[in-house]
Amino acid sequence: MKKRYSLYFTIILTFIILLIFYKKSNNKELESSIIYNKILNYSITKNLEDFSIDKNFQENSAEDYFFRGLKSYYNHDFLHAKEFLKHAELKNSKDFILNLYVNFFINNCIYKLNGNGDPQRVRFIIENIDKYPILANDVNFIWENFSTILSTKESRDTAIYLLEKYIKNSINILPANRLKLKGYVAIFKMMNKNYAESIYLFYEIISEAESIKDINLKNSIRIKAYEYIGNMHFILHDYETAIEKYNLAIDIPIENQYENASSKYGAYTNRTASYIQLKKYSTAREYSKKTLEIIPFLPDKIVDGVKIFVYNNLARIEIYQDHLKKAKQYLEQCEELLYQNKNNGILNNDIFVELSYCELYIAEKNYLQAEKLLENILTENNTNQLGFENEIYSLQMELYGKTKEFDKYSIAHEKLIHVNREFDFQIKKDYLKFIEKSFIADQLKEQEKISSLKIRILIYSILIIITFILFQITRISRLKKNNFIDQLTNSYNRKYLNKILENLDKKNSKSIELGVLMLDIDYFKKYNDNYGHIQGDYVIKSVANILNSSIERGDCVIRYGGEEFLIILKNKNSLNLKNTYMKIFKKLEEKNITHEFSLVSNHITLSVGGTKNTVKNSNDLSKLINDADSALYQSKNEGRNRFSLFKNHS
Ligand code: GH3
Ligand code: MG
Ligand code: MG
Repeated sequence: MKKRYSLYFTIILTFIILLIFYKKSNNKELESSIIYNKILNYSITKNLEDFSIDKNFQENSAEDYFFRGLKSYYNHDFLHAKEFLKHAELKNSKDFILNLYVNFFINNCIYKLNGNGDPQRVRFIIENIDKYPILANDVNFIWENFSTILSTKESRDTAIYLLEKYIKNSINILPANRLKLKGYVAIFKMMNKNYAESIYLFYEIISEAESIKDINLKNSIRIKAYEYIGNMHFILHDYETAIEKYNLAIDIPIENQYENASSKYGAYTNRTASYIQLKKYSTAREYSKKTLEIIPFLPDKIVDGVKIFVYNNLARIEIYQDHLKKAKQYLEQCEELLYQNKNNGILNNDIFVELSYCELYIAEKNYLQAEKLLENILTENNTNQLGFENEIYSLQMELYGKTKEFDKYSIAHEKLIHVNREFDFQIKKDYLKFIEKSFIADQLKEQEKISSLKIRILIYSILIIITFILFQITRISRLKKNNFIDQLTNSYNRKYLNKILENLDKKNSKSIELGVLMLDIDYFKKYNDNYGHIQGDYVIKSVANILNSSIERGDCVIRYGGEEFLIILKNKNSLNLKNTYMKIFKKLEEKNITHEFSLVSNHITLSVGGTKNTVKNSNDLSKLINDADSALYQSKNEGRNRFSLFKNHS
């Protein structure tokens, strides 16, 4: 027994000594590496001559190619840089640090040339830096690696996987840096729209930050975390809660004005954006001014980026309040700043400014220019996968609503519905996954008795990506005026039907075949009386969703009255009215919304009437609608929960 103890003791001691030795020797290896020192030196001097041929290296050696590559790289000649670096890679040097940096710079060239780096190279680096404690704790270096692979969901998944593994397995990383990296994981999850998990992680970070002794550090961590949580509420259109979180962030005191500004600029600008969404323009304006007050204390690197957001916010406030001249001035200021920073590439915020210009043009009734600009933005958006579809289609709808270009309006609307559906679906999936995961995690914690004391410090400053994501969603809910959409169900409203009728008379040419279905929920009054109006609204919404998912391209669902819908069918496939009805019937049956007080079923049912004919003008369509209504009446009379085809008795 004694022996065994001493054996353990020896093994542990050896291990500790090895560990210390291991750490030291590797730091030494790094610190004495010419490669590492030259790169470090360049970051301070910015002098490319630092990379000139070194006597220590032979011409055309791996090192020689490497430094030639770096010269090209820092001259922004990424094509040649990549070539040189690949040569260096092929020479297959035994210097492991060289190998690490060859991978790092080749990956960065790929990123600069193609817009997304190579996850395999990032993996190689991240799986090997733990050998060198300095690098293992170089959070900026780690960030630079991951930031090259954030352009697609797939590579972000890889980033999350690699970083989580690194956080878990790294021996050399200090607790403070471990928490910083945890913040990155939360950001990547946010970018992948895993909002629930991301919010959860940020709350964990806030709670862990409590044990930090340095008050300023603790507070700046909490501020950033609250800001991100606010951002996710913003993305989910819950602007009130977002403001609550931004206020929490802003109210946390930080004495040093510079640190204060750096920690809070995001919360400040995004709070303004939230008030704009809520149409509280005077508050938004007031808070914009507050943001301007902290700008003098911001670091040079981000000052212009923040200014652009503030002016852009101010421009939008002026547009919505019809002060178009003032709005234009703000947008011109944005443009000026963007122009000055063209080569710095501070942010991808041209697109926010361009979108605001579109709004300005629409407000100025400068529709042609708005349309052209929107088309350009859409192309840019699609080629670079920027994810602004929602805003662009919303603006197109606003534009075509004003120009009364009905067909284009419908196309934009269809696309918007599609984008929103995907978004909703993603959110639901995220939520369910989160519930499952947090249950498992809680169980594990219970078993392992993990104490949060272990993790002490965290995250300091994280970059601006947020604001980037944030503004993607900004303008969606502003389709109020001139609007053809029913608020409750997201279907078209009666106003839209009037538009269709008007348009039929305008075109006044070819006749087209149209089908019409009139649908009414059975015994809905009883439903309301027994389950309440709110539940009733939910049913109306669900029925609308079923109808919308049962129609084909070109067809449209109109909320005709309280719980009455009209479907106009244009698509050849839908014109088989009985089939279309059966699709709806089956989906409704599957959905199985309980209605114990219905006299015809134990779930919600519809009575439907339908008819079709060739239509030439608005009178024809009005007649079709009347006929469908008669057929609906017949369905009601014959016992409900059925379809009747209109028969001409005359
Ligand atoms: P029937 O089978 O004959 O259609 O019976 P019904 O009770 O459904 O009769 P009817 O269609 O005339 O009743 C419509 C009811 O729908 C009356 C009203 O309380 C309810 N309703 C109308 N609009 C709304 C709405 O926006 N929300 C809710 N919750 N209920 C609505
Ligand atoms: Mg009814
Ligand atoms: Mg009714």
